[in-house]
Amino acid sequence: MNRSWPEFYRRWRREGLEAGACREAGGSPAPPPERLLQAVWRHQRLLRDRLRTLDGRRLRILHPGFHNVEAGPDFQGAVVQFEGEPARAGDVEVDVAASGWEGHGHHTNPAYGRVILHVVWEPAAAAGPGRPTMALCESLDAPLEELEEWLGSEAARRWPEECRGRCFDALGGMAAEGRRELIRQAARVRFEGKAREVRARARQVGWDAALAETMFRVLGYKHNAWPMQRLAELVGWGAFEGGVAEAMGEPVLGWQARLLGLAGMLPEELSAVPAGSRRYVRRLWDVWWRERSGWLEAILPSACWHRHGQRPANHPHRRLALAAHWLARPGLPGEIEAWFVLGQPAAEAIPALGHLLQAGPDEFWDVRCTLRSRGRGEPQPLLGGARLSGLAVNAILPWLWARADAGRNEALRGRAEALYAAWPKGEDNRVLGLARDRLLGPSSGRELRTAADQQGLLQIVRDFCDRSNAICAGCDFPARLRELESRG
Ligand code: SF4
Repeated sequence: MNRSWPEFYRRWRREGLEAGACREAGGSPAPPPERLLQAVWRHQRLLRDRLRTLDGRRLRILHPGFHNVEAGPDFQGAVVQFEGEPARAGDVEVDVAASGWEGHGHHTNPAYGRVILHVVWEPAAAAGPGRPTMALCESLDAPLEELEEWLGSEAARRWPEECRGRCFDALGGMAAEGRRELIRQAARVRFEGKAREVRARARQVGWDAALAETMFRVLGYKHNAWPMQRLAELVGWGAFEGGVAEAMGEPVLGWQARLLGLAGMLPEELSAVPAGSRRYVRRLWDVWWRERSGWLEAILPSACWHRHGQRPANHPHRRLALAAHWLARPGLPGEIEAWFVLGQPAAEAIPALGHLLQAGPDEFWDVRCTLRSRGRGEPQPLLGGARLSGLAVNAILPWLWARADAGRNEALRGRAEALYAAWPKGEDNRVLGLARDRLLGPSSGRELRTAADQQGLLQIVRDFCDRSNAICAGCDFPARLRELESRG
């Protein structure tokens, strides 16, 4: 380091921190920001052997829980023990002030029903009755200024190593090929499970309708899978023959009107949408008002849709617009089968399926995310690569495998499995991210190369993590790994 230069960077950083939210202009101390309190809790930068609730009970934190960046409590799956009680698992909410509980509406929000501990900055405000509360301000393991500086460090951003699962060392000790095989086998279990589900459904409603339901569920992601399934049950391939728009030669418009109308998403007032969207919404209503009376009992209540925390491109409006393009092609299930039996190598088959499922040009939806958003300059296809991957591994390949299995066609079953194994990685999500951190460590992103690898990890989470808790109580996965290792 060149000593002739003054030490400026450290000073800039300190001054930046001091100008931040932790100090008020008059110099009187303000509470630290919630982001710092969350980091303190996440990394347990606390005098852990001196913790007490505001009502004076000793408190042991057996696991701080997993940081939740979506809606709901800040930490999920924590394990804590209050004096004189057995340990219990639940969620932890971190707020600057105890009044934040009512102030943020947590007391009426069912998502907060599993909160077992409210963590606040100061003990000044009394906790609500029956809700254990702990104050951080007198339990920090370092002065606040030092923690503020730490917050900007790599260490504060890193996944806390103490939160790793008990299986971490055993998995890390396995040869790479053994670990890959383990994940592959788990992926295969998941694949066959999905294929069995679609086959059971096909026995009830037929193959094409079962495909529509699984594809719609995938479009609904985690939160909107059920309303999407309901729409597919109502109008999936074979369930509805088409109406007025089809007779007018505008099948895509007809399906978009029908799906958005059945979803309860068509704005009643044109003034509720931007001027640039009104012509399109009026055309949707031209179709929907003619059909609506026949569907009155089937229209979904708006409350069954989850719209928060989603990327604009994944908004249900846009997903329904894409599904309408599919339904406007009654022969699409047959086209998917034809694509499959063609037997192209994976490198050609994968883009070919994307081409098959991509919507044709759509003047309105190519440049908009919702009925209420303004147009963007750059067109964006209705189906992206990550969603295609989700559709392939969760819906289309299991459906094709189930059909091949029902027909006892070994070759086609093998083909579905080979495509499944080769499909590129899909979208990352919170469950996958947490599983990687807990089970495999930060460098595992490279190891999970395909969508099947991601599916295998998710299956391990379902089979083991979901049956245990944050401290891995009762999980026999580590023992099974050790047993596998001892057998060589
Ligand atoms: S619950 Fe089991 S599988 Fe999950 S992280 Fe803990 S030891 Fe691993």
